[in-house]
Order: sequence, then C-alpha cells, then structure tokens
Amino acid sequence: MTTSTLDQLGRTLGVLRLSLTARCNLACRYCRPENQDPRTLLTHQQRLKLVGVAARLGCRRLRLTGGEPLLAPDLVPLIQAVKALDLVEEVVLTSNGVLLDRPLARRLQQAGLDRITISLDGADPQAVLRMGGGHSFARVVAAVGHARAVGLPVKINMVVMAHGNGDQVVPMARLCRELGVELRLIEYMDVGNRNGWQPQQVLTAAAMIAQIARRWPLQPVGRQPGATARRWRYGDGGGFVSTIASISEPFCGDCNRLRVTADGVAYTCLFASQGTDLKPALDPRQPDAVLMQQLVSLWRQRRDRYSEERTSRQVNPTPRPSPAEMAYIGG
Ligand code: SAM
Ligand code: SF4
Repeated sequence: MTTSTLDQLGRTLGVLRLSLTARCNLACRYCRPENQDPRTLLTHQQRLKLVGVAARLGCRRLRLTGGEPLLAPDLVPLIQAVKALDLVEEVVLTSNGVLLDRPLARRLQQAGLDRITISLDGADPQAVLRMGGGHSFARVVAAVGHARAVGLPVKINMVVMAHGNGDQVVPMARLCRELGVELRLIEYMDVGNRNGWQPQQVLTAAAMIAQIARRWPLQPVGRQPGATARRWRYGDGGGFVSTIASISEPFCGDCNRLRVTADGVAYTCLFASQGTDLKPALDPRQPDAVLMQQLVSLWRQRRDRYSEERTSRQVNPTPRPSPAEMAYIGG
C-alpha cells in the first residue's frame, strides 16, 4: 500500500537518491570526494529496507549514486534485489563510467538497471584532464558504447565551469550528437564548502543553449513536473539536449527528491546543512513502521527551497554552516 505524504510546500516524495559510497576514483574540480570508513556503510538489508519503505511512501524511482557507485562491490546484487521487490518503477545509476567495461554493463542490464547517466566534462582528453577527470576520456567514451551495446539507455552529464570547460559546450554537443546520446548541461552548483564555488564560475543554462542554438537550431520541449532537466529538441532530428539550471532557474517548487548518504543520513535538500540519521530505524530488529514514521515526519516538516532563496538573494551562497559535500550527499 502506498501512503502519499506532502511536505510544508505541498510537494510529494517521488525519487530516492541513494549514495553507495562517498569515495571516488576521480577528483573533479567541482566536487570533493571523501574517504569513508567501510564499516559505516549501510548493509544490503538496510538499503533494501529503506527502498521498500520509501517506495511505500511514494518513491517511484531509485537513483543510485555516490561518490562513485561502481566502487560499491554489491551494486549488482542490490539492483537485482530491488527489482525483485517490484516496488519502484525505475532503478537508474549515475556514474563517472571509468570502471564500466562491457561485462559489467551487461551484468547491470541483466540485474534490471533501467538506464544510466554517465558524467563527462569535455570532448577531448585534455579538456577532461583539466577538469580533474584524469586520463579517463577514452575509457568514458568507451563506457557509453558498452552501455548502449547491452541495451541500457544513456544520458551524459556535463558540469560546466565558465573558466574551466566553458569552451566545451559546443564540442560536447557535437560529440553527444555523434554518440546518439542526450547531453545534460549542469550549472556549477554551490554544494558543500570545499569546492571554492564562485558565482563568476557559473555559465548559465541560457548562455549554454544560446551557444548550441547558433550551431544547430533548437526547439524548446520544457521541463516535466518534478524533473531537474529542461529539454530542447534539435531541429534537424539530431535528438535532444537539456540543461539543469539549479542556479539561474531553480526548480525547488516541485522538488520530490529525498537523498540518503551511504552511511544512512537523510537530506531533504542537496544544499542542506543538516541531515537526519536513519541508522537506528534501519536496524533490522526494528519494524518497518519505525522507519516509515521517521520518514513521514521528516518529509512533513520539509520546507527547503535553498536554490530559490539563493536566487532571490535571500541567502548568501557561501559560506554556509557545514553544508554536506556533493560526493557525500550523492549528487
Ligand atoms: N561519481 C558519479 C558521477 O560523477 O557521475 C556520481 C556522483 S556525482 C556527485 C553526481 C553528479 O553530480 C555528476 O554528474 C557530477 O558531475 C555532479 N556534480 C558534482 N559536483 C557538482 C557541482 N558542484 N555542481 C553541479 N554538479 C555537480
Ligand atoms: Fe567523483 Fe562524481 Fe565527484 Fe567527479 S563528480 S569527483 S566522478 S563523485
């Protein structure tokens, strides 16, 4: 039975973003991965319990993220077990793709993964190196091919920093058109305190789309309720491109995402300073009703709308008291 619950701003719970580790095998310029004691991680049973209860509260999609979720040894069995529960409509993954070879792509697809988003910040090896992606360009492009070859729908995430990879917007649009995948251009966000975010480093979605539209005509498609991405269709039939404009066009009004860190702390906003420890309620000796009650009460109290407040200048973006880092909270 599904229990629908609304937060203080009338928003439903629709997506659970579960981080599997705060660790990463890359060090992107805009993100700060962390070392994490493996003993603090939620167990397989705890993750399943969380997904089951969140689904009963209305979560229709589970997004597995990190840190780098392909570093989690039990990723494939987790996807298999979640699919066997048959409680969520979609299980999707966000990864940097470095470890995604053909056999792993096949195992993920066979386990029931519905689709994958792969991050890539430049259209050539040097651009990726500049953004902290190391020498991963060829591997990540190959990973896109592996995912598609086994039948996994793919999107590519690119975080754009004006003075980092701002020159890569059109080259990435070209590469993604050639690869036949949708590019999602993400405005550089002030998540956490350690990436040195500055407003001058933000290239707005409108500026990015204007660059692309000068080269290939675009038709606006819009943003689905609850979605992060606003989409455009290439006029020449070359597919879609989208933007995630958390800075210039915040979408707090219908945000339906609950984030849970790899060690079981729930955040009701990506920009939150404080989380709620779910570990005691996730203890297998506790009945599901305890976790259900805690999540219902957390969601009913939720009034976060940080991006909107920042944009209307009610909040100074940096520094804030101990906000969680992106790789910890799960982007
Ligand atoms: N390691 C995986 C990856 O990079 O795809 C998954 C975790 S990562 C934190 C999830 C997404 O958040 C990635 O697409 C990443 O590019 C994005 N991201 C990280 N830091 C960001 C920031 N400061 N602003 C905007 N997006 C960011
Ligand atoms: Fe790692 Fe993803 Fe953060 Fe890059 S964005 S450092 S790949 S967790």
